[in-house]
Amino acid sequence: MGYIDPGTGYVFSSIVPVILGFLATFIVTIMAFFAKRKNLIVLIIIIALIATMILMFNKKTISNKAKGRVVILGIDGMDPNILSQAIEKKLMPNFKKLKEKGYYSELQTTIPPQSPVAWASFATGTDPSEHGIYDFIVRDPKNYQLDLVWMENIKSAIRGETFWQKAGKNNIDTTVLFLPNTFPPNSLYGRMISGMGTPDILGTAGKFSLFTTKKLNKNSRGNQVSLDNIETQMVNIPGPRYQAFNEKKVTNIPLKIQRNKEKKELILIVQNQKIILKEGKFSDWIKLEFKIDFFTKINGIAKFYLKQLSPDLEIYLSPINFDPSKPIKDISYPKAYSKDLVKEYGLFYTQGLPHDTWALEEGVFDDRAFLENAESIFKEREVIYFGELVKQKTGIFFSYFGITDTISHMYWKDPEVIFKFYKKIDDIVGKTLSKLNKEDTLIILSDHGFAGFDWEFNLNSWLRDDGYLVLKDGAETGGTLLDQVDWEKTKAYAIGYNGVYLNLKGREEGGIVEKKDSQALEEKLKKDLLQIINPNDNSKVIKNAYTKEELKIKNDDSNSPDLFVGYFKGIRSSWDTAVGATPKNIFNKRVDKWSGDHLFDASEVPGVLLSNKNLKLKNPQITQIMPFVLKLFKYENR
Ligand SMILES: [Zn+2]
Repeated sequence: MGYIDPGTGYVFSSIVPVILGFLATFIVTIMAFFAKRKNLIVLIIIIALIATMILMFNKKTISNKAKGRVVILGIDGMDPNILSQAIEKKLMPNFKKLKEKGYYSELQTTIPPQSPVAWASFATGTDPSEHGIYDFIVRDPKNYQLDLVWMENIKSAIRGETFWQKAGKNNIDTTVLFLPNTFPPNSLYGRMISGMGTPDILGTAGKFSLFTTKKLNKNSRGNQVSLDNIETQMVNIPGPRYQAFNEKKVTNIPLKIQRNKEKKELILIVQNQKIILKEGKFSDWIKLEFKIDFFTKINGIAKFYLKQLSPDLEIYLSPINFDPSKPIKDISYPKAYSKDLVKEYGLFYTQGLPHDTWALEEGVFDDRAFLENAESIFKEREVIYFGELVKQKTGIFFSYFGITDTISHMYWKDPEVIFKFYKKIDDIVGKTLSKLNKEDTLIILSDHGFAGFDWEFNLNSWLRDDGYLVLKDGAETGGTLLDQVDWEKTKAYAIGYNGVYLNLKGREEGGIVEKKDSQALEEKLKKDLLQIINPNDNSKVIKNAYTKEELKIKNDDSNSPDLFVGYFKGIRSSWDTAVGATPKNIFNKRVDKWSGDHLFDASEVPGVLLSNKNLKLKNPQITQIMPFVLKLFKYENR
């Protein structure tokens, strides 16, 4: 996660020009309408009819036939091997109990084993061929532009009915907390708060800011704001961009910074809030209100962290999350649900990927800061989960925990840290079991497992060396977003983490591969891919390569890769590949903090499935779980 940000983020609009236009039209229309009295009577009758209809449709009766609730915990990236090691170390007594007395199995994940793909399969009970989500990254063949799969226009493209839509048709009360791919939220018979895919208020996956007296890091993925090495100063917190009267602007909030070296503390003053920070400490949530114009305000929340007070001053500001008590975009259903959660449990991270792995990778966070933050995020989610769980007596209750995935990515080489968070999940399960009634079913699943990430594979560079991809004017390297690719000579290119696309005539803007030749080309590519050897350790690189036909994907589904690459664990597509770059080397030794991964062949990283009841499912797949749960409720396919 925290993968990339090819999108350009939000640009909000000032509504002043719109309001002026609207007011004028409105007044003229109303005056014309009420010139006739008969029209007024017609209007009253119509309003009365609509009100009656709304009341009638709202009168649903609960027809829940299952005994008890079904509580489902989605534990992102929980791996069967680590789980059994943790059980052996006696760190997970509750999982041990479920494994021995209830149900346990490895869970087959999707091809490819990426979180948005796997959770879409969980939600719909269908393979990617049906729901149409194939990767974190999508490309538009019309212009080769890239985007994150969660950008709002694309996300709405998940095909098929979700379990909460099916449950709703049967009046089964349903709660969905923080499930990936649920931004914007759907309406349902119950309540939902959006999960992975929810951006910060800038429209990015989570852009932090660093205020620093040090030299600015030009390659940072965060905002960098330069400070003077003095006692008191004013700076601006950069906010969302907006457009007013054809002009693009950035909103700002002034921030006063006062350094007290004697007391070893920092005083921050922002919008009448005073924050006193010691070195190495986080602030509570701060409310930030960005004003675009008199009518339009964008409300956010963020946390400060004082990295260093002196000799240099370094202040981290978290990505600015939607304020769940007044979000500018809907992040829950009903709309007021996020506000209700704040009232009961306080402010919380709304950003879909709340863990700031970018800050950790860039050294803005050290391990202590990152892990302290991770624990506070965990606590926020835990409080919401248990608070909401005890309120619901029937139906389906789903909650998602992403910490296991993040920690396994960042601390693969430090298993003690991973075990610590697995143990926290065990505590959650123990406490959950104590709150369940005898008839209640608990189901725990992960979307995929994990393995070490030792080598990055530059798939486009391999395609270049094998003549499938050609760069312009004999260039050796090409930048991100398919820079320098010579479309007149290129037969295949790679985008995302597991996909190769043919440069197909009629589909791609500059396509050259004739439809009649595509199958032969796919076969040759597949053969070549399966033979790749990593010369650094003489190991095979690719375990499986699947064609669309093999995965039952319709030929005319232009969002799908033409070949899905399934790597052996330990090596996977590089970040450069995901965003369409062509670096010089094919293989890079992985040295970064991000050292664990799962974007391999699906068979390398199965997830887990556990329950307090014997589910009697043999070789279960992630697509089977929710159809199984709905059957418990004698779900009727209406
Ligand atoms: Zn992951």
